[in-house]
Amino acid sequence: MNSLRQVMAEDGETRSRLDQVVHLIASTMVADVCSIYHREADGTLLLIATEGLKPEAVNKTRMGSTEGLVGYVARTAEPIAIEDAPRHPAFSYRPETGEDPFHAFLGVPILRTGGVIGVLVVQNRTERSYRDEEVETLQTIAMVLAEIVHRISEDQLSAQPDRRARGQNGGNLRGRIFCEGLGYGRAVLHDPVVPAARFFAADQKEEALRLEQGLKDLRASIDRMMLIDGAALGEDPRDVMEAYRLLAHDTSWAEKLQEGVRSGLSAEASVDRARREHRAKMQAARDPYLRERLHDLEDLDNRLLRILGGDENKPQITSESSVLVARRLGPAELLEYAKLGLKGILMEEAAASSHAAIVARALSIPAIGGIEGLTTLIEQGDYVIVDAEQGQAHIRPDDAVYDAYKSRVALRSERQAIYASLRGLPAETKDGKTVSLMLNAGLDLDLDMMDQAGADGVGLFRTEFQFLVSETLPRLEDQIALYRRVLDRAGGRPVIFRTLDLGGDKVLPILNQLREENPALGWRSIRFALDHKGLFRRQLRALVRAAGEGALTVMFPMVTTPEEFREARALLEEEVVWTLKRTGRKPSKLEIGVMLETPALAFALPDLAGEVDFLSVGTNDLLQFFFAADRMTPSVSDRYALISPSALRFLRMVAETCQTAGIRLSVCGEATATPLAAFCFAAFGYTSLSMSASSIGPVKQALRSIDLAGFRRGLDQALNEPNGAFRNQVLRIALEHGADIPDA
Ligand code: PEP
Ligand code: MG
Repeated sequence: MNSLRQVMAEDGETRSRLDQVVHLIASTMVADVCSIYHREADGTLLLIATEGLKPEAVNKTRMGSTEGLVGYVARTAEPIAIEDAPRHPAFSYRPETGEDPFHAFLGVPILRTGGVIGVLVVQNRTERSYRDEEVETLQTIAMVLAEIVHRISEDQLSAQPDRRARGQNGGNLRGRIFCEGLGYGRAVLHDPVVPAARFFAADQKEEALRLEQGLKDLRASIDRMMLIDGAALGEDPRDVMEAYRLLAHDTSWAEKLQEGVRSGLSAEASVDRARREHRAKMQAARDPYLRERLHDLEDLDNRLLRILGGDENKPQITSESSVLVARRLGPAELLEYAKLGLKGILMEEAAASSHAAIVARALSIPAIGGIEGLTTLIEQGDYVIVDAEQGQAHIRPDDAVYDAYKSRVALRSERQAIYASLRGLPAETKDGKTVSLMLNAGLDLDLDMMDQAGADGVGLFRTEFQFLVSETLPRLEDQIALYRRVLDRAGGRPVIFRTLDLGGDKVLPILNQLREENPALGWRSIRFALDHKGLFRRQLRALVRAAGEGALTVMFPMVTTPEEFREARALLEEEVVWTLKRTGRKPSKLEIGVMLETPALAFALPDLAGEVDFLSVGTNDLLQFFFAADRMTPSVSDRYALISPSALRFLRMVAETCQTAGIRLSVCGEATATPLAAFCFAAFGYTSLSMSASSIGPVKQALRSIDLAGFRRGLDQALNEPNGAFRNQVLRIALEHGADIPDA
């Protein structure tokens, strides 16, 4: 290990260092052959260095991605040790290498964070079995070697400037827009990075103690988490947490880490090695339970790295230009980073991070999620353009891409200036219909946007956000304080508080809710609230207390039946009575509404006449249930559109029902946020549209340009006789009636 350390520390041409390394390994492991294969861009495995095989085979012998024993190691990301390789079914013979006389074969994957980047092999003439320690040592060497091998890919890229800019390692990555906007900066990776300079331990004994202490601290922190949150857990979630705790106490994991240190690695490098293995296995695993477990293990590796590294391991965010790159990110973590300043956010996972996405929106940071393989393609410090107007990230952009980006930024700010000039004006159509444009918010940070965007109030305040970004359950006082701040900031403009909407994609780590087969259809939202009356009552009490003697407007999410609404409403009314008794105060005006998120409720509305003050259509959930298309599954989430005959006929019917029942109409899902959708809703009689801040300007500008009555006539006609390209049909009608829509 010492000699390897020397080779690693030397500056030198990559290939000659590889030659030194294979020579060194062959002699220390008493092997007749030591070879390194590099996984090329197309997945094939190219022999790039060897001691013992014919030198002419270097840079010539190439195995298919799953061919032979080398391909087998690359595919499974597992080591393989065989006494007599030619007899193994996966063996593939290459005459040009002259490997006939070698029987014993030991191959280990060369892993980096992104997965397998090569394979390291030793071979012996005689049939022999390799000891576990030898396998272990070779894995450790492969870990160290990964940095040099990786440099080969880098060198190849810089030798081809165009590929460096737009090649498969750079290039454009597509994802889902979490927060609209444009940003540019250097990538900062969320997962801790262990620099190669810290791979080796200076003092092995001390390093073993440091690792021991790190493990102790990690276990203690997880035990504490169990204690604090245990009270709030039900049976099943407690099992899930307990399984995680057991993993942290797992002696085989700890032993493996200690082995790494014994073989000469630093504590961090040893954890990093385990993390690479867990990640690679996860990429190869199909079984969802195994994947979950490996995910948990990787989480533990990351936690331990943070503990070992202390502050040094924290990502270095510089406010002038950092783009955060993460696989998964909790909302609380995102808030921490955002305080330091971020130009953009890129995330791998779309589903688990959707509340991080909403935090990104609250902070107006351009963000893209659901980018597969993101963290394997971006390196720390890479320049990145976050194009969250088109849902693309450009890694290491060349001049042409960068120039195009700059002119888009200029265009964007021109538009912003136009929207700003409309701030004080109402969203009044050409024929005199006024629509309220409200803000969707969830944190008090969002409220800064209220004046900037010229919102008429808050049409949806997502109260669960306070819960999602807290480490512990917010107390009654915390909730009252937040609601008061919101009301103060609104300064008399209406605010609609939506009660806790937990579950589905908004899983609360503290409650560690059940993992369900179909979370969107599961124990969520009002269902969850009505089954956790303590939690729910406390929130209702906080809302009533915060309103004091002012007006209070509350709505309940995901209501499916009138009974659910009635039960929730009764609880709220009881809290009003209770608060009056205790404080002598009650809201001067109480309005209670319901969200329309399930199609079933649309057909129950006549039964709620006189009981419901207003209805707010939550298109995000409604459309997923209406079209039976999961909003969190990228391959289906964008497949169906609001601007379609079926959805619009349904929304027109809802409007007519509400008009008959005397229920006020509004919308608060993301689908309102485009001019065309806003025309349709306004035409049907929805008088209030709530959306994120960045959409208010464009929607207002568009509404101010249209003759709504004319558009409605055209729309009704189109709904009677839709043609194939229905959106175009509606767009044409809008344009015929004066619509001014940029980029239409
Ligand atoms: C909706 O479903 O449209 C909605 C506004 O609620 P959320 O996005 O918070 O589920
Ligand atoms: Mg919803």
